[in-house]
Amino acid sequence: MPDFQEALALVTNLAAGRPVGTERVDLLDAFHRVLAEDITWDMDMPPFRQSTRDGFACRRADLGNDLEVVETIAAGAVPRRALGPNQCAKIMTGAAIPPGADCVVMLEHIEHPGDASIRCPSSYSEDHACPPGVHATAGETVLRAGEMIEAPHIAVLASVGCTWPLVSRRPTVGVLATGSELVEPDCKPGPCRIRNSNSFQLSAMVIAASAVPRNYGLVVDDKGAIQTALHKAIEENDVVVLSGGISRGDYDFVRGILEETLVELLFDRVGPAPGRPVVFGVSDTAFCFGLSGNPVSNFIMFELMVKPFLYAMAGHRFRPAVSHGELAGTIQRRSVDKDLWLPVAVAEDGRVHPIECRKWMGVAVMCKADGLIHVPAGVAGFPEGASVLVRRI
Ligand code: AMP
Ligand code: MG
Repeated sequence: MPDFQEALALVTNLAAGRPVGTERVDLLDAFHRVLAEDITWDMDMPPFRQSTRDGFACRRADLGNDLEVVETIAAGAVPRRALGPNQCAKIMTGAAIPPGADCVVMLEHIEHPGDASIRCPSSYSEDHACPPGVHATAGETVLRAGEMIEAPHIAVLASVGCTWPLVSRRPTVGVLATGSELVEPDCKPGPCRIRNSNSFQLSAMVIAASAVPRNYGLVVDDKGAIQTALHKAIEENDVVVLSGGISRGDYDFVRGILEETLVELLFDRVGPAPGRPVVFGVSDTAFCFGLSGNPVSNFIMFELMVKPFLYAMAGHRFRPAVSHGELAGTIQRRSVDKDLWLPVAVAEDGRVHPIECRKWMGVAVMCKADGLIHVPAGVAGFPEGASVLVRRI
């Protein structure tokens, strides 16, 4: 049985080996999707010598003299003339600096402002002139395939005129909840029943991971019923995520069914507490995850394993955001044989508050969490005040 890190490497490598394909989409539809082509600058940036301030374009040699204002250059206007000795041009931020000028003096620093003539301090040392090509040169690669397209990437795509970027197709994920105790959220649970929350939590997490959830609803803990639903979900999706039924109880059929159904069951019961167990296998056409039905475990294992997997399918290497903080309480555990990921809340002052959940892992626990901290196997805990690394969620 691989350990958790090995299992993660195994699934992400498999995902990368079966990419989902690509499609071209409208620029804004590419937001939070994975870029599938390298992007190069189509021109120098900036393409012309640009003023970075409102002021006067001058010749440095003339500073201190009375200067004749020969024109006003608005952003987007082509300068009409080159500056001669003791001439200057009023200029706006973003406008092209006229030939002959070698500096821009900010409006605020003009000594004798006037419409026809001005004087600048002779000691003025700034230039406020951005040379062409200083940000990038034409042909230079600016974005690489595999990058996640966030708002600044949208800006770059717009800047190079890429209005129809090539992105990875979104993997489709069939979500299937098993459990005879479950009713759908719009029903009032009868005696000894609870509502199905995992299908919706999982679907929301699939959407956040830039993939497409398809809800296959609820299946009772019955071998035949699970088999039928699973086959349909496998046929219709790139990935299937099942919730519940993977422990060792009398009615936990999912692991056995996956074993029979899939080409290969690559591992079962791998994973850190409180997420374990996790089952993973491949069919000819789809990948399957079986996650614990406990909503907290379900969340954590999706976060730690399924999310990086889905990104890898789309060609993106997921790296979680992390932060450091001082622990505001003690973490202490008795058995140290397992890896543990604990939900924590990060206060505004950066202090990290453990959320007690190991005993009673209710569905609302993760609502308070900003991240997870890792307690490796062999480590009993951390004292209050310890500096801990938080994996943000
Ligand atoms: P299981 O993994 O099937 O052993 O379920 C573990 C716990 O999670 C049990 O208390 C279940 O009632 C609960 N559970 C299972 N599936 C769901 C679900 N879809 N939504 C909410 N709770 C669930
Ligand atoms: Mg169950």
